[in-house]
Amino acid sequence: MSQISTIGIIGAGQMGNGIAHVAAQQGYQIILHDIAPDALQRALKLIAKNMEREEKKEKITAAQRKAALAAIRPAQSLGEAGAADLVIEAVTESEEVKQSVYKALQPSLREGAILVSNTSSISITKLGAATPWPQRFMGMHFFNPVPIMELVELIPGMATDPAAFSAVEAVALKMGKKPIRTKDASGFIVNRILIPMLNEAAFALHDGVGDTVSIDQGLLLGARHPMGPLTLADYVGLDIVLAVIRVLHRELGDSKYRPCPLLVKLVEAGWLGVKTGKGFYDYSTNPPTPTM
Ligand code: NAD
Repeated sequence: MSQISTIGIIGAGQMGNGIAHVAAQQGYQIILHDIAPDALQRALKLIAKNMEREEKKEKITAAQRKAALAAIRPAQSLGEAGAADLVIEAVTESEEVKQSVYKALQPSLREGAILVSNTSSISITKLGAATPWPQRFMGMHFFNPVPIMELVELIPGMATDPAAFSAVEAVALKMGKKPIRTKDASGFIVNRILIPMLNEAAFALHDGVGDTVSIDQGLLLGARHPMGPLTLADYVGLDIVLAVIRVLHRELGDSKYRPCPLLVKLVEAGWLGVKTGKGFYDYSTNPPTPTM
């Protein structure tokens, strides 16, 4: 495996911009691509704003902020990002979309380069099998918001070369993260446990067990969680929560993973949580108010 100094990031949404932010601060050269030019511009503005906030809090110096920003190069074409030593795919959670990205990457990916997916729920072995280099493919699952969350799950597929795993582990450590190794099983470790809990919180609201605020307070005060489950679901994105619970339901075949109808309705309404301004809470008010 070649030395990793450049990282291509495909998808500049919630996760892609956070990964770019952290990797650039640790000295990597970043090539950031998104299919939507406005998403790319939004990501660059957000990264600049988030780094300014870090500077104000004296977590970084002005020089560090400038150097990190200068290390992020926006790329209009997928091929430019594909020419990096490590390519991190963070596009929409759809097997079809991800596979189309891998196919389009084929001509530009360099010999020895590693490709990883930030997927929350799709089988790494299956995704890897759709590439010509499954030995240099694995899961690298970051958590949102990336600059704050320390965990990275590292998921080797059936064919992943141990040298590729070690190289990706070294990048995670250099990025200041605490990696854990997980088997390529639905939801990996964290979402296998977390997402059914968020779905269950939606069921508790749907069944009238408690109102929105009471359910959140229950877990805040009764289980010492730092954030209530309905608030957390809004932060994760209700579309993501629904997509992951559906994968757990389909792949593990247990009815305990059935999606809550209320969650389905909210996603159908386009109320996806914080990113659309509305989910279990309405974020146009301060503090946010329950929507039901
Ligand atoms: P997002 O919707 O915020 O961003 C996805 C981005 O991908 C969008 O900007 C979109 O324009 C871009 N995109 C779509 N198709 C593309 C293509 N063909 N080529 C290039 N760009 C394309 O989503 P997100 O929350 O950042 O999630 C991205 C990935 O990270 C998903 O696989 C998700 O499961 C995973 N993930 C999400 C979270 C989370 O909390 N949101 C946490 C861990 C992992």
